[in-house]
Amino acid sequence: MPNFLLSIGRYLVHVKSCLVREENLFVSKVFIIVFVAILSTFIYLAGTFDNIENITLDKRFKYRRDLPTHPKIIIVQIAEDSIKELGRWPWNRERHAALTQAMSDFSAKALAFDILFPESSTNDSDTLFAQEMKKAGNVYLPVAFQKLHDRNEDNIIQPIPLFKNAAKGEGHITVQPDSDGLLRKIKLRVQHKNRNYYQLGLLLALDYYGIDPKEVKNDNVLLQIPIPDEAPLIIPLTKEGNMVINWAGKWTETFSHVSYNDVIVTHSQWLQGQKTRIPVEMFKDALCIVGVTATGLHDIRSMPLEPAYPSVGINATVTNSILQRKFLITLGDYGNLLIIWCLSGLIFFVTLRAGYLKTILSIMALAFSYTIASVVLFAYANLITSLVYPLILIFFSSFALTLYHQFVITVEKRRLTNLATRDNMTGLYNISHFKLLLNAEIKSVELRRNKNLSAIMFDLDFFKKINDTFGHAAGDEVLYTVANILHSISRALDVACRYGGEEFILMLPGTNRDNAVKIADKIRKSIERHEFYLGEHSTHHKVTASFGVAEYHDGHETGEKFIIRADKGLYQAKNSGRNRVCPV
Ligand code: GH3
Ligand code: MG
Ligand code: MG
Repeated sequence: MPNFLLSIGRYLVHVKSCLVREENLFVSKVFIIVFVAILSTFIYLAGTFDNIENITLDKRFKYRRDLPTHPKIIIVQIAEDSIKELGRWPWNRERHAALTQAMSDFSAKALAFDILFPESSTNDSDTLFAQEMKKAGNVYLPVAFQKLHDRNEDNIIQPIPLFKNAAKGEGHITVQPDSDGLLRKIKLRVQHKNRNYYQLGLLLALDYYGIDPKEVKNDNVLLQIPIPDEAPLIIPLTKEGNMVINWAGKWTETFSHVSYNDVIVTHSQWLQGQKTRIPVEMFKDALCIVGVTATGLHDIRSMPLEPAYPSVGINATVTNSILQRKFLITLGDYGNLLIIWCLSGLIFFVTLRAGYLKTILSIMALAFSYTIASVVLFAYANLITSLVYPLILIFFSSFALTLYHQFVITVEKRRLTNLATRDNMTGLYNISHFKLLLNAEIKSVELRRNKNLSAIMFDLDFFKKINDTFGHAAGDEVLYTVANILHSISRALDVACRYGGEEFILMLPGTNRDNAVKIADKIRKSIERHEFYLGEHSTHHKVTASFGVAEYHDGHETGEKFIIRADKGLYQAKNSGRNRVCPV
């Protein structure tokens, strides 16, 4: 094997033993937690789980109480009843003229149509509608953009010039749902051909305060509206420049809704001095938004609280959010990453001295508390904190710490096993464990009669002289090398053992005497051929060993007796000149 691979291997073994040492527990845990925090930071910045993050935001909306809606916001809906009474859609624009007149008569503050008028009518109802709009002086019409990022003029859908001149302003009604189709954010301002188009709902709110849209200041992260005699209203935006829509609640459970047809009927009743279907006082100073909600006709959007939400409600929601000064604040990348790193620190301190179970329980408790905290922050502080990424961090940490714990246990277990079964210097089995394995093997041989079992016992020749000449350390070095030679020659099934001092024994299951003799001779030659360099001056020295070989007698020979027979062979080898193999 190349040297550098060996070095890497040795280094890894060193790292492994360092990681599990009691005094290094602190460093190991710091290492693990910092690693997980860095990993989580990258996952956060890559936005890998943004879709799931959005779903958790939806859940937070669900667990929050409905927001109060401003009593002066009224949705005038063109629902099934109005279609039934007033005829098929689209209607003759005389109807919108009548509605505009009604709202003007009822002293509404402003009226916005969430209905696009990009084409002229074939009859003269356009003139009538334009006249009424001009007379009322407070009607807002929508524009829409097909592609927000495209500056091409073709992509703006705007009212016909006649209406444009009659309306007080134009607000955009373009929305961009997230990739899962749900609408969560909205652009409050779209620039098109050097002109600012504010969101229709925002225009209504400005109208309510009597502020000219030109006074609105917009930078990348907030939109500022100066309010006379009050603190300026600051709308926080996301880093993409969008407002997170602060949904008040479900369509049917929020805002005042009136039927378009009922307004028309009420107007004619009011003109004739009759009792009206709707109390007309409700429209005084109100911001009225007209939109189609009849099934099949209306423009619906999916939002966090329900899959089908009429678009007209989006404008009402924007207006409401501004009038109530209730905005959602996204914490932003720095804030969320700060949370991730603070949680890492917390996990570290909670788990530093804790055992395995306590670590897992504390991490679970942390995950639970953080989830509750983010729900509470959303509900009571309108703050959107990242939930998924901190939870990913928490669960990764618990996973990594569990893995580490398991690793420490495994290494410790192996260390204890080795301590109990192996010789410390050579790494070979110790006698007591060898005897255990030998007895088990003898049992298996007794059960299956045709199985062979042999043993090789050997002792280094004149070893005392090595110690005396080169020192005890050199003797140890020789023992270690001989153990390595023995280990490299023995097969996977063989059991090599340091029998004591400079004596070794090798158990060879499934091997008869003749083969055992061959193996013994192979070991003998390997030792004899090996070049030992010993002592301070690295003196070249040859080492030999004498071998006894025995095959297990089928029958009732005990392990002890079997070893004694091998030892007899060894004795013979010593007496007949050493460096040889003597089978018995
Ligand atoms: P023989 O050929 O008859 O076996 O001669 P020998 O010198 O090898 O045998 P003897 O039994 O006289 O000496 C064995 C020596 O081995 C004595 C002891 O100090 C040494 N010894 C035993 N265990 C260790 C050990 O762990 N390390 C070292 N360096 N020496 C050891
Ligand atoms: Mg000896
Ligand atoms: Mg000896």
